[in-house]
Amino acid sequence: MATTDHASKSTDVPLVEERPHQKGMPESPDSVMVSLAGAMTLGLEKGKFAREEIVLRGLNVLMTYQENCSANCSYCGVSRERRVARDERTFIRVKWPVVKVDELIERNNTIKHQMRRLCVGMLANPKSFGHSLQVIEEFKQRTDLLISGLITASLIKSKDDLQKIKDAGADRVDIAIDAATEELFERHRGRPVKGPHRWDHFWWVTEEATKVFEPGTVGIHLVVGLGETEKELLESCQRAQDLNVVTHLFSFNPEPSTLLGDHPQPPLGQYRRCQLGRYLINELGVNIHHFRFNRSGQVVDYGLAPEDLDVVIDSGHPFVTSGCPDEHGQTACNRPYGNGRPSEPMRNFPFVPTPADIQDIRAQLWSDWEGDDHAADDGAMG
Ligand code: SF4
Repeated sequence: MATTDHASKSTDVPLVEERPHQKGMPESPDSVMVSLAGAMTLGLEKGKFAREEIVLRGLNVLMTYQENCSANCSYCGVSRERRVARDERTFIRVKWPVVKVDELIERNNTIKHQMRRLCVGMLANPKSFGHSLQVIEEFKQRTDLLISGLITASLIKSKDDLQKIKDAGADRVDIAIDAATEELFERHRGRPVKGPHRWDHFWWVTEEATKVFEPGTVGIHLVVGLGETEKELLESCQRAQDLNVVTHLFSFNPEPSTLLGDHPQPPLGQYRRCQLGRYLINELGVNIHHFRFNRSGQVVDYGLAPEDLDVVIDSGHPFVTSGCPDEHGQTACNRPYGNGRPSEPMRNFPFVPTPADIQDIRAQLWSDWEGDDHAADDGAMG
């Protein structure tokens, strides 16, 4: 796995350097970065979704600053440092155009679309907390979108800060914990990469958020494929669920120029098993103690009768993007480009998979499975 060791002296190993500041670029709070899917839906970018079933239901925006983010998460395209191949000193590919908030609001209010929720994401920049409050307030006052705050926990110092996000107009918050274990969190987001983030603080903020927001309206983000086992990933889902916090899953997707730029995506089977496990824990209330794992930490079974599991798989719902909902409880944040290129197999389905998709999912589900070694479980069984 790539680490800051990439900053080595060898000539064929990429250097690590601070990202150049984006001089002259507009900044938050007047402007924000918008996901490509959102920009397409609002007529700011050209393009068509890969499948006709795809309809964007959520608008995702992120704060933006000339000096980039002050944190340095190893997988993130806006991290403070970038990995630079000697012959490839270009800036990160622009996937999230920078747009004025006023223009976004105007387009949202005049263009026909089916987006029901706005997500306002912070960066680990001290200005980002106050700016995200301003952006939330603007959208709350001038649109009818529901609003989620995607929190950078390191900027949250007290429960009052969370109350301010609610008072500004967000009805939900998510904390982007991303890494499923403390060790991986530290390695990818903490001291080894000279980052400010701390595992205990992120979980503390998650718990505090449940005291401010309505039950069931707090979530965490977890990324599959940062080096964790399925057991570890699902244990974090269960830890969150025990706090009445849902997990929104992402599949690691290497971002060129990041420290993990050469790290592979997790196998599809691993991702499918995590999606299924998360769905059972969050949506059907199955406790991880009913799951069984092999020595590699892969799921062996979910503790459900095969015919019951078949019904869950055939519904397709475990494989739909897990994201904040609309007012009817349907996924609004469906992130069509969140986890890969349109040419790759879809990891999160931005719509309910079709029968043909379910066939593919079934073929993928156990494709990289190492088998049941019977004696593997170390206590997670019921
Ligand atoms: S699930 Fe989507 S809307 Fe909710 S916080 Fe995460 S990115 Fe934002």
